[in-house]
Amino acid sequence: MSAPFAARLHADLEARRRAGLYRARRVRDGMPGAEGVIDGRGRLVFCSNDYLGLAAHPALGAALAEGARRYGTGSGAAHLITGHCRAHHALEEELAAFVGRPRALLFSTGYMANLGAVAALLGRGDRVFADRLNHASLLDAARLSGARLVRYRHADADALGRALARPLKDRALARPPKDRAPARRSEGRALVVSDGVFSMDGDLAPLPALARTARAHGAWLMVDDAHGLGVVGPRGRGVLDHYALDADAVPVLVGTLGKAFGTFGAFVAGDADLIETLIQRARTYIYTTAPPPALAEATRAALRIAAAEPWRRERLHALVARFRAGAQAAGLPLGASTTPIQPLVTGSAERAVALSAALEARGILVSAIRPPTVPQGTARLRVTFSALHEEAHVDRLLAALAEVWPAAEAGCA
Ligand SMILES: *Cc1c(COP(=O)(O)O)cnc(C)c1O
Repeated sequence: MSAPFAARLHADLEARRRAGLYRARRVRDGMPGAEGVIDGRGRLVFCSNDYLGLAAHPALGAALAEGARRYGTGSGAAHLITGHCRAHHALEEELAAFVGRPRALLFSTGYMANLGAVAALLGRGDRVFADRLNHASLLDAARLSGARLVRYRHADADALGRALARPLKDRALARPPKDRAPARRSEGRALVVSDGVFSMDGDLAPLPALARTARAHGAWLMVDDAHGLGVVGPRGRGVLDHYALDADAVPVLVGTLGKAFGTFGAFVAGDADLIETLIQRARTYIYTTAPPPALAEATRAALRIAAAEPWRRERLHALVARFRAGAQAAGLPLGASTTPIQPLVTGSAERAVALSAALEARGILVSAIRPPTVPQGTARLRVTFSALHEEAHVDRLLAALAEVWPAAEAGCA
């Protein structure tokens, strides 16, 4: 590395540190759960996405071990070569049944599912409409696809409608070649993409209105329900089930397996033509090693437990209700969320970091979420709950918040 290049990296890192935006990792020992050993110290943890408390479930571990015994540790190849195993295939069928779609296709991660799906469906000349607060992977997916990216106001179907109605501005149309009439260009395809449950805010997308608007403009709707599946809806089947939306309303559904289901990976669900299109065209599916088949066996176990033990979901909702009631009474700035993601917006990144540190000094881990993960001025503590938390844990969190919140207010005034 040349000296000026290295100096630039160092200066960028220092600037980041000064702005309170420096990110550092912590090392966890042992199992994920309500209590964890983080950087060598016992902590009460309120920042994992293991909503149903399945990530350390012995039945998943047993399924993983049995899967490894049967299939080995690695898949050995991409899905389109010899990596697609019986376990993957069975999991795809079970995921499709779970979300009520004809087919599902496994991806290694949610990030890759979004990149692969959007880029397989769209290209230059097409448009993708994205909620401003969508997950970063959907934003990157739009950019990778080469389609024109239009971002609309958060959770605002009217803003989406206006954006869809705007004619496609195109340099080629604005400046037609001198002696040719401007070609009547087709508007191309339009895809609307939205988180189902917004990952940093916990609120639900207004999907019935988004679906109506998309359909009125001939656009498709793709929903990434990473935080809804397993948690939201009468049977934990996610935000589409909550709103009773069918495949006509939302043709493309993305789910992830590393959150409520406690394993790793992701899937896209839809009809046969969608899935076959992705198999032919999604580069993040084609050009990568299939995930370990044993992992698919662990996820199959997770699906069975999530279905057989509704108490996990019920308990989670009771914990959220307890937290919201307590936080409201304490005057904390709750958001509009009814899900296990309960942000407390602090405004500045420094304040979020100070509050997170003050909680940690009391043995409680809540992560500070800062720009660019969230927009400028909306840094926050992102509190999340798991079915493994107890009421006493929630009460401890509330007591600690009541102590540190006003102090931070005074300190940062
Ligand atoms: C976590 C998340 C992803 C990424 O999923 P991974 O499997 O962790 O790569 C995608 N979309 C949303 C909304 C997420 O919250």
